[in-house]
Amino acid sequence: MTPADLAFDQRHIWHPYTSMTRPLPCYPVTDAVGCELQLADGRRLVDGMSSWWAAIHGYNHPAINRAVTDQLQHMSHVMFGGITHPQAVELCRRLVGMTPPSLECVFLADSGSVAVEVAIKMAMQYWQARGKSRKRLLALRHGYHGDTLGAMSVCDPQNSMHGLYRGYLPEHDFISAPACRFDEPWRESDADELAAALAAGSHTLAAVILEPIVQGAGGMRFYHPAYLRRVRELCDRYGILLIADEIATGFGRTGKLFACQHADIAPDILCLGKALTGGYMTLSATLTSRVVADTISNGEAGCFMHGPTFMANPLACAAANASLALLEQGQWQGKVTAIEAQLRTALLPLRAHARVADTRVLGAIGVVETHTPVNMPALQRYFVNEGVWIRPFGRLIYLMPPYIISSSQLALLTGALAASLDEPAHFAP
Ligand code: PLP
Repeated sequence: MTPADLAFDQRHIWHPYTSMTRPLPCYPVTDAVGCELQLADGRRLVDGMSSWWAAIHGYNHPAINRAVTDQLQHMSHVMFGGITHPQAVELCRRLVGMTPPSLECVFLADSGSVAVEVAIKMAMQYWQARGKSRKRLLALRHGYHGDTLGAMSVCDPQNSMHGLYRGYLPEHDFISAPACRFDEPWRESDADELAAALAAGSHTLAAVILEPIVQGAGGMRFYHPAYLRRVRELCDRYGILLIADEIATGFGRTGKLFACQHADIAPDILCLGKALTGGYMTLSATLTSRVVADTISNGEAGCFMHGPTFMANPLACAAANASLALLEQGQWQGKVTAIEAQLRTALLPLRAHARVADTRVLGAIGVVETHTPVNMPALQRYFVNEGVWIRPFGRLIYLMPPYIISSSQLALLTGALAASLDEPAHFAP
């Protein structure tokens, strides 16, 4: 890429959460192979982000490449209205087989945020079909569910964008994020606010929506499985639907194939995305129980009212099938366990550093929370110069590498992270 390309990018292209008038530096990547990103100037960076939870098998994986290339010879896309195709059937059979038995029906859509929109609309249509006026959702503070309007409306009301869009966003109910950490002894009182909210909303709540066990972009917090079990019990008691957003946690990241397995529960509606295609392209799935699907289908509309143009895109389904086939081989579990052990050894002691407020590790996720926010451009530049790709935000520097990362590559990531803490210029004063 030429300097002119970069200048065009800065002038004309939006990047995520980035100003058009004061854009942050952008690093041109030309190739990505295995666990490395290659910059245009030839430097190679060890990837600590899996492109935001997605590239679990690394980049340019031969099996996924082959699957997508093969599919390309048949068709890259065909409408899904009145048509089906082998990749979609194989994928949905796989998803139904690997998720809890109660989840039987799959809706394929474009992205994680759309999967959440679909889940919310399903909950609304479900109650409408039952002739009940239940339109409110209960969500957790520090939650994150995506950037479309419905998804935003259930993100943390403080640290997300509710203020910006007030009057335009639907209003829902929020309770405190679970306080009890994943590895602490469970305190029953931690479910008190939850129990009170569900009792109060027993006639108005359509669904509870949450990220099971790991609250991702809203704070990278890991909470106790007993909390999730209480949510399930209380939803059952009041007949409220439970929507589990496993878009970030799904497909092994937390050490279980799905985070709900830490609590041994099944949601009524499950949202999947990100790593579904091994991070190759955008695709999401929303799974529901038969009861939810049948109720919606027997309601006033007679069907679920959603049908995106690129629903079940065959190329994306082929990538997903290849990625899930790799997971089915089973090596991911040992790899995630090894990553977790190495992250624990390298990151947990950083808790003693004066700049560090907390450290936590679960599965292939390692988090260092600092007392003050990071100076993003300075810290990013430092990491790139150290040969690693780590993208911090706010007070969080975190790692979630591809499962295929080698121990020496992971050591490079944790070493750079640890050393970065010693430089005052990497942090706000
Ligand atoms: N839900 C969760 C838990 C997420 O972490 C994300 C993205 O980070 C989303 C939903 C939105 O997914 P997408 O960015 O694919 O729209």
